[in-house]
Amino acid sequence: MPIYKQALNSEIFDYISKASSALQLESYVIGGFVRDFLLQRNSGAKDIDIVTVGSGIALAKKVANLLPHKPKVQVFKTYGTAMLRFKEVEIEFVGARKESYAKESRNPQVKEGTLQDDQNRRDFTINAMALSLNQKDYGVLLDPFNGASDLKNGIIKTPLDPNITYSDDPLRMMRAIRFATQLNFKIEQTSLNAISNNAERLDIITRERIVDELHKILLSDKPSIGFLLLEKTNLLIRILPELTNLKGVEEEKGQRHKDNFYHTLQVVDNIAVHTDNLWLRWTALLHDIGKAPTKKFDKNLGWTFHAHEFVGSKMVYKLFKRLKMPLNEKMKYVQKLVLLSSRPVILAEEVTDSAIRRLIFDAGEDIDDLMTHCEADITTQNSKKLKQYLNNFRMVREKIADVEARDSIRNFQPPITGEIIMKTFNLKPGREIGILKESIKEAILEGEIKNDFEEAYQFMLEKADKLGFKSS
Ligand code: ATP
Ligand code: MG
Repeated sequence: MPIYKQALNSEIFDYISKASSALQLESYVIGGFVRDFLLQRNSGAKDIDIVTVGSGIALAKKVANLLPHKPKVQVFKTYGTAMLRFKEVEIEFVGARKESYAKESRNPQVKEGTLQDDQNRRDFTINAMALSLNQKDYGVLLDPFNGASDLKNGIIKTPLDPNITYSDDPLRMMRAIRFATQLNFKIEQTSLNAISNNAERLDIITRERIVDELHKILLSDKPSIGFLLLEKTNLLIRILPELTNLKGVEEEKGQRHKDNFYHTLQVVDNIAVHTDNLWLRWTALLHDIGKAPTKKFDKNLGWTFHAHEFVGSKMVYKLFKRLKMPLNEKMKYVQKLVLLSSRPVILAEEVTDSAIRRLIFDAGEDIDDLMTHCEADITTQNSKKLKQYLNNFRMVREKIADVEARDSIRNFQPPITGEIIMKTFNLKPGREIGILKESIKEAILEGEIKNDFEEAYQFMLEKADKLGFKSS
């Protein structure tokens, strides 16, 4: 039996070991901590799970009592668990348990059990390994399902019959795919079949938990691994049908369009290289969802997706709402970037100062993120074209920097306010003010006048004269 004392060099394990002896309990560190140690991925362990054969709450209290700083113990009575913090790390304590599940809920009936019972109820073999904290065999690895060899071979597998494991708690299907993505592991074939067979059980899982796993998949190095698995197992259609609707290639009169599902996944992988911004990654995932409902074949134009950016940005709201995701500025950011997602591409073909100013004006603070997205959106296999597109984008970026240096459009505030207009022409609030303000903004964006007060004021007087307003 392998011994890994070096995994237990944090002094917290001494305290837990002492507390266990004092209470005559057997305790183990289990789950993610052990897995990540064996993967040498432990550098920043944020949580450590301790299982004890007996009361996890009693053990946590004893540990807290031995610790010099006497931390507060948070008790979750309904779950029979407790948590305390040691140097930024959350230490979770649970009593070893046996679980039995009812069909309609993922909350099991819980009974006390042995370590082995507790390992049986874990989700994956690689998450069921435990290291002893007991004096008699301190540091010994207890690995009844050969998790260590699955870890070496990169395999996700359930300890017991996968059909039962996934049906008992369908969240495990999402976790399987999430770990496969984060670790670049394969899900064992029988497990994969069991996920497909249990796909509709996902409906008993709260949307918040599902989204949590989606976030983790999206934040991985290569998110496409996860989305391909979600698609293959029929989970994706239950969560994000907007994406599965993008699948497929149609041909009409010898003309084909690209498969926008695979294109989207490529864009997400591309953007993952450039940013950890979760919401920019969501943008990449959703940027083309408007293409399914807008797809048409036109005799003269071929395949068109007219106004798909606009339609797509409307869909973002519904999708966020359905998944109980935030409807705040994060959602608005994704909407805005989806709406603008094709603009820089058009610019890359023909770039004028006024088009650049308009783009900066519309994108505001998010112009750099928009450009990052658009570059990731180039997925041509043709290396000559790729080079050319990237080159065009570099020119657009340079032009943006250039225009920015001259006019500060990014935080554009029209130099003439409504109040100034009302005062100058002795007007009451009404349509005329909007018309004047808009024409000043247009003149600035078109480059007819500079973005400054004097020029704008002069322009306003001339414009008002043409419109027949009289200054007071
Ligand atoms: P990470 O924290 O990196 O996401 P983890 O494996 O530590 O990975 P946690 O969610 O912190 O995941 O769970 C801790 C441990 O609890 C897991 O390693 C696993 O043994 C067990 N576990 C968590 N969720 C489930 C579940 N739904 N079904 C069975 N066991 C679970
Ligand atoms: Mg964890």
